[in-house]
Amino acid sequence: FRGTPLKKTESHKLVYGWIIDQEKLIDKVLVVVMRAPNSYTAENVVEIQTHGSPFVLRGILDLILNRGARLAEAGEFTQRAFLNGRIDLTQAEAISDLIHSNSEIGAKIAANQMSGKLFRAIDEVKKKIVYIASIVEANIEFPEEIESFTRREECLEGLKQASDDLHQLIDNAELGEKIREGFSVTLIGRPNVGKSSLLNLLIGEQRAIVTDIPGTTRDSIEEFVQIRGIPFRLTDTAGIREANDPIESEGIRRTKISREKADYILLILDASEELKEEDANLISEIEKTKTLVLINKIDLMKEKNIFWQDSINSLDYIFVSAKNGEGIQQLKSILYEKATLGSRLNQDEFWITNQRQLQAAKHAINSLNLARKVLDEYNGEELLAVDLKSCLNALGEIVGETTPDDLLENIFSEFCIGK
Ligand code: GDP
Repeated sequence: FRGTPLKKTESHKLVYGWIIDQEKLIDKVLVVVMRAPNSYTAENVVEIQTHGSPFVLRGILDLILNRGARLAEAGEFTQRAFLNGRIDLTQAEAISDLIHSNSEIGAKIAANQMSGKLFRAIDEVKKKIVYIASIVEANIEFPEEIESFTRREECLEGLKQASDDLHQLIDNAELGEKIREGFSVTLIGRPNVGKSSLLNLLIGEQRAIVTDIPGTTRDSIEEFVQIRGIPFRLTDTAGIREANDPIESEGIRRTKISREKADYILLILDASEELKEEDANLISEIEKTKTLVLINKIDLMKEKNIFWQDSINSLDYIFVSAKNGEGIQQLKSILYEKATLGSRLNQDEFWITNQRQLQAAKHAINSLNLARKVLDEYNGEELLAVDLKSCLNALGEIVGETTPDDLLENIFSEFCIGK
């Protein structure tokens, strides 16, 4: 790099120059030096902006690697930022969530958490418990000075507060997790009723193969769609038929699994045909509470009066047409309502959104409950101190202070390379 040596350039200032490999010019670049601690990792960082050709990138990378650098591991930058105390574990996880987010609301929740809001909330709870623990410790050390546990009421109140706070943090955890992963909706129905066509209409492009030959959608197909900012994972399944063909049987087996796991099921029937045995079997097997029947191909009918309609009267159903789009807005509205349980989702109402955090928070709540019981029953300050310590430990696990190393490794290894 010709010109001012990078060691001497100002921090956070773009400088222009050439990358040169022994007299050979590789590329004109912009370089920025970010000196510790004001960088993503809180370490010294140099970023090079090159022209994007893979040959140029390879050339520059080889040059740097030959001088003793190595490629970063997956998530290493974020891990360093965490280890250097620039972010806590909930923020690190939020970065990963943001990168993987597939919906507007998911991205907003992740961005919110990246600002450290969960960390601060946990910190508040920790402070309350540390305060109570200090009263308890004083009682253990100088029992003669304080006859009975005089500040018991204050401690009980404080523990209740802390427990309420934690309950609020886990309140929307399940919904938050669904928003990260997408609500799963499985489309079932016998071959040729229009599952692939409906799926395509919902995703707005031709993905699944649509054919006139029954049984051609063999494998399940999974697609992500956003409906009003909420992510859905739609699974189109092979038609459920008793098949001898091994490939089709495998498809049918997967259909059954997918149907059991789904948050919501769309059972598709063909308005233009009679109700067949396969349809009737599906109707008899479904869970009513999580199924919506779509009477498809309604464009082929003069009237919305299907002669077999009575057979599904006890179920929720709507008329749709994958051909002309009739009923699709209504379908989307229903899916949205079901996913959000009719409430308006507000990103500020989400705190804990993953299983790891949730398990630790539940552990903390458990310890708090034990502590309240001990205090309530005058069972001795030593026991109380143990429970409070265990609670603090669980809270520390959420933010990464007391998280075991192997768990940390796991979390960061799920990041992308270069993050
Ligand atoms: P699948 O086997 O259930 O996935 O069914 P497909 O989506 O492959 O559709 C089977 C056939 O029905 C294709 O020829 C589609 O064009 C046709 N089809 C699907 N939906 C409709 C609809 O709403 N109206 C009409 N007229 N034809 C449809």
